[in-house]
Amino acid sequence: MKETDQLIFSEDKDNYLPVFNRYKIVLDHGNGVYAWDNNGKKYIDFLGGIAVNVLGHNYQPLVQAVAEQAGKLIHCSNLYYTQPQADAASKLVKLSGLGKAFFGNSGAEANEGAIKIARKYAHSINSEKSQIITAWDSFHGRTIATLTATGQPHYHEGVGPLPEGFDYVHYNDIDELESMMSDKTAAVMLETIQGEGGVHTPDGDYLKKVRELCDKYQALLIFDEIQAGIGRTGKFFAYEKYGVKPDIVTLAKGLAGGVPIGAFIVTDEVAKAFKPGDHGTTFGGNPLACAAANVVLDTVPKADFLQQVEEVGSYFKGKLEALMKKYPALIKDVRGTGLILGAELSSPEHGRDIVNGCLAKGAIINCTAGKVLRFIPPLIITKAQVDEVMNILDEVVSQYA
Ligand SMILES: *Cc1c(COP(=O)(O)O)cnc(C)c1O
Repeated sequence: MKETDQLIFSEDKDNYLPVFNRYKIVLDHGNGVYAWDNNGKKYIDFLGGIAVNVLGHNYQPLVQAVAEQAGKLIHCSNLYYTQPQADAASKLVKLSGLGKAFFGNSGAEANEGAIKIARKYAHSINSEKSQIITAWDSFHGRTIATLTATGQPHYHEGVGPLPEGFDYVHYNDIDELESMMSDKTAAVMLETIQGEGGVHTPDGDYLKKVRELCDKYQALLIFDEIQAGIGRTGKFFAYEKYGVKPDIVTLAKGLAGGVPIGAFIVTDEVAKAFKPGDHGTTFGGNPLACAAANVVLDTVPKADFLQQVEEVGSYFKGKLEALMKKYPALIKDVRGTGLILGAELSSPEHGRDIVNGCLAKGAIINCTAGKVLRFIPPLIITKAQVDEVMNILDEVVSQYA
């Protein structure tokens, strides 16, 4: 290990807020699905910066668009119009079939905006209509409102008082949802596929029934597609896969291929709730971020690109299922669709060891919710690259079987 690595570790320890349980490598550069550390060691990257680097590393059209835009205008505030923002908004509106888009800088900010406009809209119907229902095991962000929306009590500890009006239901339990809803429900907010909570997919017609309940109680349906959107399921929006349209959808992570961005998109009806001055942002949707988003929005929604995600995804899932058959005591479930896949371990004791074992052998993967190996790679991976990771994973997993 380079001496500079030790210096970076100690600088970090002395100066950076210790909120991350980091893996001890210093990444330096990347190309396609591969990344290299400071020592020149090569890794195959099946985490993609947590579902962010959808076009891989060093994707030339993205690099060029960012460089070109940086040389023209990085930022100018939202007091003025720019071509990249107008283009990105119209692409999102067209792709979603919804009415208006707004850009922020992160997933949490997108969800904050979605919650805020949903409340404002609901209050225009009835001043007591403010309940937001979310799911246990969800993840919606780290700001105070979005961590409250996140149905994982450990994120709520010690930071109260939390904002009022949030209730939680078990994902996929439609009866429980119905029992919680009333005319006071402003919105139901769900991840179309739960990511951080362990890759949980919706059963059969669950989301359709959620849509019906929302219509019954005049509540808005918000899909958080910050992780599952942007082509990851083989459809541009995951909700297309389930045949259900939300009133609001949120995006971030992969939307600009690695440049920070977030967005919420609403129907024209919901958009009426905000007037000039009701919401805003200094950085959000600046021309640099939107120039990057435009490359993603011109690439990922293409039929052959999405088809490839679907194909490689089902190949990958088949390989994970075969691994589960080989090590049934260690792996108890394989879930997901497209390129959001999870393999649940029987116990949490080996999760981090498996991730570290893969890292030592040159593969970047992730473990979430304590014991779910999660695969959210760049969307450009090939079957041969799936094999490359599966060979490493098999070797590592065999040590614990
Ligand atoms: C990552 C994530 C967020 C939060 O995004 P940040 O950019 O980290 O604020 C919210 N919802 C989902 C589903 C996510 O995966």
